[in-house]
Amino acid sequence: MAPDCIFCRIVGGGIPSRKIYDDEDIFAFHDIRPVAPVHFLMVPRVHIASLYECEPSHAAALGKMLAMAGRLAREQGATDGFRTIINTGRVGRQEVYHVHMHVIGGPDVLPGMIVRK
Ligand code: 5GP
Ligand code: ZN
Repeated sequence: MAPDCIFCRIVGGGIPSRKIYDDEDIFAFHDIRPVAPVHFLMVPRVHIASLYECEPSHAAALGKMLAMAGRLAREQGATDGFRTIINTGRVGRQEVYHVHMHVIGGPDVLPGMIVRK
């Protein structure tokens, strides 16, 4: 646990959140500023600042985030598809430095992902 980390404090219960799932490895909760009808975040319980800091020992938690995303998305109402996003570092526009995966969906809300220049 990193005491100054918002998501560590959410996982620890010190900051309230709208939790949708947790187990011994991961924690999932609604994003406080959703960009779509379904928008939740999945995080490892352990503090990892970004994908740059990930190591093989983190594979179980990271894999579980992916393995659980579809089930949780469906339960939240994203039944016809969703997008997963992990922003990393400055160029990735990461704002909170505790690895998190956005799960974003809902009816026909997502634009094409990559704008080709
Ligand atoms: P990033 O840009 O780092 O990928 O995304 C960080 C996300 O965390 C943003 O979508 C933001 O709305 C969300 N967020 C930031 N602070 C809080 C908080 O205190 N509670 C919740 N539930 N979400 C937060
Ligand atoms: Zn943290």
